Amino acid sequence: DYVGDQIDQHLGRYSQADAVVVGAGFAGMYQLKRLREMGLKTRVIEAGDDVGGTWYWNRYPGARCDIESLGYSYGFDPELEQDWSWSERYATQPEILSYAEHVAKRYDLRKDITFETRVTRAVYDEDTSRWTIYTDTGEAISATYFIMATGCLSVPKEPDIEGAESFEGPTYITGRWPHEGVDFTGKKVAVIGTGSSAIQAIPHIAEQASQLTVYQRTPAYSLPAGNRPLTNQEVSDMKGRYRDFREEQKYNFAGIPKPERALEPAAMVPPEERQRRLEEGWTQGLTGLTTKFADALADEESNAIIADFIRERIKARVKDPEIAETLTPYSYPFGTKRPCLDTNFYETFNRDNVTLVDLRKTPMEKVTPKGIKTSAGEEDFDVIVFATGFDAMTGALLKVDIRGKGGVALSDKWANGPHTYLGIAIAGFPNLFTITGPSSPSVLSNMMVSIEQHVDWVSDCIGWMRERGLGTIEPTEAAEEEWAEHNEAMANQTLFPQANSWYIGANVPGKPRTFMAYVAGVDVYRIICDQVAASGYSGFETA
Ligand code: FAD
Repeated sequence: DYVGDQIDQHLGRYSQADAVVVGAGFAGMYQLKRLREMGLKTRVIEAGDDVGGTWYWNRYPGARCDIESLGYSYGFDPELEQDWSWSERYATQPEILSYAEHVAKRYDLRKDITFETRVTRAVYDEDTSRWTIYTDTGEAISATYFIMATGCLSVPKEPDIEGAESFEGPTYITGRWPHEGVDFTGKKVAVIGTGSSAIQAIPHIAEQASQLTVYQRTPAYSLPAGNRPLTNQEVSDMKGRYRDFREEQKYNFAGIPKPERALEPAAMVPPEERQRRLEEGWTQGLTGLTTKFADALADEESNAIIADFIRERIKARVKDPEIAETLTPYSYPFGTKRPCLDTNFYETFNRDNVTLVDLRKTPMEKVTPKGIKTSAGEEDFDVIVFATGFDAMTGALLKVDIRGKGGVALSDKWANGPHTYLGIAIAGFPNLFTITGPSSPSVLSNMMVSIEQHVDWVSDCIGWMRERGLGTIEPTEAAEEEWAEHNEAMANQTLFPQANSWYIGANVPGKPRTFMAYVAGVDVYRIICDQVAASGYSGFETA
């Protein structure tokens, strides 16, 4: 590698920047805008051939946001939010991607983004206090600041099923869907998985395919999205109050101001009122039900009231009682795995051309050249769709070989689970920032709100350093340790650790089991981050 680096430098593939940002999703795009406005020479490196990140890669049929479109957008520019109009209550992937493209054009972002290039390695040099960032196109970029805006859900989990590569027909992974789309007409299709992506894709695939078989391991709790076109009145009402709404997002638990979280635990709410709240929450999207009782995610009995309500509703949507039972989740509390929103997911199992296989009863044995073999036998397919999720939270960070002080590899430092300070910075890795990194609220929130908060915090921190002529900033081990303890204590007050979720790394074999998101809310978290900054970056060392 050393020789390669020397050759690259001699060939002139060695460049200088003030900051390198990895990723051109919503995080990287806004980070570029902020740093450029501060006068930093900034390079963004992106593996895809355009902006959008999640919404660039996940083009599977039915891909849609689960946060209402009026709230899932940038709040940094009052003119931008006036300029753009969302068409549906929940935006489709193509509409969100157009929004990302609109933003890139509006702020002329693409001129500083290098596409179709992957960052493979980054090395910190203690003598110069600079990072060298290496790409798969043979470039080396020296930079003062190194910002990973690589996404929490950007590395699809490769199907860890024996024989997966032996299948003779086409296979697709939802998180890396072909740009030209897939025509399932007349095909016998298998979908493996029933998480968020599968739940969105299955109704669409079932409409095209001659036969669809769904392989389910763990049933999800899914609520009807209630998607519909937005009226002009709704859009203009929001445009009239967007500035207030953005403040409400910032100081809300999940970055989703409505519905508001109830103050009473379920035990204090009389039965008829409980029922009324449940009926109401059922139509209010992702946070409709968890906000109905203050202890919904902390108390088993309170949670069970909600879970029972959802189970009844699932059963009412599926005609065959046995299929309904198979689709009904029992093994974990509601909300401890990411809840799903669907359009006709359960009803799809009422179709004649759709079959459900319960992998808990008949485990998957392998993929064969012709199809899929479970303990109950083998079935042939024309196409297999893997909706098998992501190596979440740490996947993209650890795919890059990041070396901090003393040549320490991030993968070694995190061998027992990710440790960060505030989810933004890592002891031993000066001037490295992680946007929505592990142990920040990230995936437990409206990500747009969390992304903007992190980008603003990092940009302000860099501005503060530059004003003072400081070269480096890095958290202390003690601050990092304290943050980890605080995170764990917070998570342990909730039901989250009870589920084998991707929040905890349980979906990836061998991944250390730690709860990787900050559960106390984006509002509380923002206040903590602001206090750290206001105190002159307590918990950090500068030089
Ligand atoms: P991403 O959009 O993931 O962008 C990261 C970019 O970094 C990618 O383009 C990737 O190619 C690039 N990259 C990574 N590593 C490298 C490397 N080494 N070199 C070069 N480039 C690299 N959030 C919500 O709030 N609400 C939702 O309803 C919601 N729905 C979702 C549905 C799906 C199917 C998925 C996958 C995610 C969803 N999310 C949702 C989360 C979503 O990821 C965030 O909302 C947001 O888009 C993340 O933006 P980002 O810029 O942080 O990361």
